[in-house]
Amino acid sequence: MPHRRVYGFRSCSAWTILTAVLASGGLCLLQAATVQPFSADISHRARGVFPGEAVLVRVVPSAPVTEIKGDIFDETIHFYPADGAAWEGLVGVDLLVEPGAYDLTLLMRPVGSAPVQRAYPLTVAHKSYPTRQLTVAPRYVEPPPDVSARIAREAQEQQAIFASASPDRLWRGPWGVPVSGRATSAFGSRSVFNGQSRSPHSGADFRAAEGTPIVAPNVGRVVLTGDTYFSGGSVILDHGWGLYSYFAHLSKISVEDGELIERGQTVGLAGATGRVTGPHLHWTLRMNGARVDPLSVIELLAK
Ligand SMILES: [Zn+2]
Repeated sequence: MPHRRVYGFRSCSAWTILTAVLASGGLCLLQAATVQPFSADISHRARGVFPGEAVLVRVVPSAPVTEIKGDIFDETIHFYPADGAAWEGLVGVDLLVEPGAYDLTLLMRPVGSAPVQRAYPLTVAHKSYPTRQLTVAPRYVEPPPDVSARIAREAQEQQAIFASASPDRLWRGPWGVPVSGRATSAFGSRSVFNGQSRSPHSGADFRAAEGTPIVAPNVGRVVLTGDTYFSGGSVILDHGWGLYSYFAHLSKISVEDGELIERGQTVGLAGATGRVTGPHLHWTLRMNGARVDPLSVIELLAK
């Protein structure tokens, strides 16, 4: 389709105006300006693009849009209006994503014209995580047979929550830390319990003495509370659009299922329940099912 050309002052730069004024003592000459077809400036920010990281994708469309959606790793990425004309969306790169080249397919809906699709390449780099050796009560390494049904049920329940995505975004603005203690993270570490290899550590750990208040890092609705075999006192917050916070090993839970929690509101107290070596807070963040380091989101959305 040919570019539509219009005439006006819009292409007069300060320099043009100055020279025109100097040369003719009059107004800048009318100049031809080209109205470009819809375009979008797409960029991303991350501590690094590798398994276990959140990536913030920023789209600045050349004309107003009513919606932007993305698709990568077979998941839908919702975008929200950010500052100015920009829109932003969070992509979670799961711990098990193979390093390589991927395309984020973007669908943008400009006001008054047909949807526009763009592919934005994201290259996932390799990252090797360390191994950590932990000693815990033997019942957490070789659980007695009578708890196997409970373990399976709890795992299934959590998977069902993380596989769903509620339609509204509840979280807003910057993310806070859920506890004041130092983050030891250890996210992604291969965990060896009592000499036996287990699945990689899919959350961030924070030092926290028994009884330290745990607060919501952002707005969310409580979708699970209770005592689970491996995680002890547990709370799951649904932040919307497939983003969940999972807090584990609590000594006390102070929220109820269905409750809407504000950023900074206490959800419970730190403890040493479940499979632990001592009191601490474990915080898992799930993003469209992807296990990402919560600290990567705090850093990306710190402003
Ligand atoms: Zn942990």
